[in-house]
Amino acid sequence: MEKSLVALRESSAAQQYNIAEAWLAAFAGALEQRDYIRVAAMMHSDGYWRDLLTFGWEFKTLHGVDKVQSWLTETFDAQAGRTFRLEGQPTVGAIGEHGATLEFFFRFETSIAHGRGYARLVEEARSVDLKAFTLLTTMHELKKFPQATARNRPREDLRIASCQPENWADRRSAARRYRDRDPEVVVIGGGQSGLMLAARLGQIGVDTLVIEKTRRVGDVWRNRYHSLQLHNEICMNHFAYMPFPENWPVFIPKDKLANWLEFYAEAMEINVWTNTTFLGGQYDDGEKRWTVRLGLADGTTRTMRPSHVVVAVGVSGIPSIPKFDGMDEFGGAIVHSSENTDGFDVAGRSVLVVGAGTSGHDIAQSLYGRGAHVTMLQRSSVTVVSLEPSSVRPYELYRRNDGVRPIADTDLMAASVPYPLLARLHQPLSRQMMEDDKELLAGLRKVGFLLDNGEDDTGYFLKLLRYQAGYYLNIGASDLIIEGKIKLKAGVEIAELKPKQVIFSDGTSLVTDIVVLATGYKPLQEWVRAMFGDDIADRVGPIWGIGEDGELCAMYARTGQEGFYVSGGGLPGARAYSHFTALLIKAALEGLLPARSATRSEASGERREGPKRAGHASAQELQRIG
Ligand SMILES: Cc1cc2nc3c(=O)[nH]c(=O)nc-3n(C[C@H](O)[C@H](O)[C@H](O)COP(=O)(O)OP(=O)(O)OC[C@H]3O[C@@H](n4cnc5c(N)ncnc54)[C@H](O)[C@@H]3O)c2cc1C
Repeated sequence: MEKSLVALRESSAAQQYNIAEAWLAAFAGALEQRDYIRVAAMMHSDGYWRDLLTFGWEFKTLHGVDKVQSWLTETFDAQAGRTFRLEGQPTVGAIGEHGATLEFFFRFETSIAHGRGYARLVEEARSVDLKAFTLLTTMHELKKFPQATARNRPREDLRIASCQPENWADRRSAARRYRDRDPEVVVIGGGQSGLMLAARLGQIGVDTLVIEKTRRVGDVWRNRYHSLQLHNEICMNHFAYMPFPENWPVFIPKDKLANWLEFYAEAMEINVWTNTTFLGGQYDDGEKRWTVRLGLADGTTRTMRPSHVVVAVGVSGIPSIPKFDGMDEFGGAIVHSSENTDGFDVAGRSVLVVGAGTSGHDIAQSLYGRGAHVTMLQRSSVTVVSLEPSSVRPYELYRRNDGVRPIADTDLMAASVPYPLLARLHQPLSRQMMEDDKELLAGLRKVGFLLDNGEDDTGYFLKLLRYQAGYYLNIGASDLIIEGKIKLKAGVEIAELKPKQVIFSDGTSLVTDIVVLATGYKPLQEWVRAMFGDDIADRVGPIWGIGEDGELCAMYARTGQEGFYVSGGGLPGARAYSHFTALLIKAALEGLLPARSATRSEASGERREGPKRAGHASAQELQRIG
């Protein structure tokens, strides 16, 4: 296990393989002997180990040798890992201040699961051995319940099948009717998150019903404004099991994506009830079942008793609609961005767009294109980056690997960088973006646009991960603002409305026909409160944001409420982490998941879930974790 990564760059593939293999063998040997001091010493002193479900049933980020050692001492015996072996050929890369890394995938087992991992070895001062700067261990599948994919595809005995009265179509239609049975899982919301999770659950034999309130799967995208195309590139947006066709465009138009969602649901044999709205639910702690009420297309109500519910309602929870004095006297249209703004005849009319996030910018641009006189009202600062070269920098890995590696491998590589480290890496990266975008930003500043670079100088990408808000990737609206084609009113609020007039907090006013409120949505916890009541909302706690433990709050993982999960977010997150939510649900259904109070880390009081996990990490806390 020689050091010198500089030499490593020039070394042969065989030498790189040998170094990685030797490190992994030493690591496995130390783990087998329960020599956690030695294991921890194989980590870089500034290193991160992230474990997704293998050695405990949670998402865990550990930073530094001491944390790793005490965590292993506490958790490893319960689910010991063994038979670590290298997978594929190591590569040489770089991360942050480490100019050369030796990176490799590996496989391993626990008593109940097959695992996959990814490691980045780097040099450490005063050490002759390479150390792990990042180490990811993840549950790949439960041994007893492998995915029905590839060589494990379902295979029917055709001689028997040919004699059966029902064919595949008959069975599919019976399965989705739920006439005389209830599903094990009800997923609320048939957007990309709900569908990908349902597809994954289906592969491991979990009976899942997705309910979707709109008329057709994909309507959530169809109903968004006319001009919308995905803002990030296709390379990171593929769906689980079904990557997009090779000839699809880089930026996917919203209606094309909508149709794909519908096609995906059909191809993945997902049971979806459209025109079906979730009305509310309660949990029976004794029976460990939910009672959920669904409003059906024909106006009737169906009650079901699943053991799990998953909230996948995306941002379509409760729109945040501010109230203004004089709203009744205004006389013009006031619409929220969640409503369709395409129907308005806006040519030659004056429109005020309230809000300067992505929706505010996109709607302002679309209205301008349709001949409106648009003013954008910006209350507080926003992070703006160019589409190229800046917005793509954070997902360079996906660009590089598109069509080269399976997307599941790239997802593992991405997941191996925990959020606190990501925040660290994004400080210099976002400063580079500001440098690259200096002309754009100077132009915006000149017209008074309020800019920031994120709460801890981490730029747009961390805002996206933490809040899904507060940034704009410039697809042209910034240029229109700089050129004065979209007017700007910054740093003020609406004081009151008068007939066809808006009065701002600085005393100025604007004559306007239409007000579009691009003011976002209430926190998802409020949707949970409205649907499930205070107790459950408080147990689940805040949703989204990075918690004090360096992991997302209440997303994809177990929440403080038994049998309750939340899925959502952009396509990459929904794809990568639905894998783990599905495993957790399957483990619970098969009696493999210990009750929350019985998990070892819970017993030690270390985990902060539900009411105990009430806050997001501040920028300073993240620095501390990182
Ligand atoms: C303008 C815009 C541009 C975006 N661009 C990108 C991009 O480029 N890349 C990217 O990855 N992401 C992008 N996003 C983010 C995108 O919204 C999310 O990625 C995605 O929509 C979230 O998926 P989801 O499945 O979690 O939620 P959604 O897509 O919002 O789906 C939630 C579903 O739940 C349904 N639902 C809600 N309430 C109920 C209920 N009570 N009962 C039954 N069903 C219900 C809704 O009808 C909807 O179909 C963009 C978002 C917007 C608004």
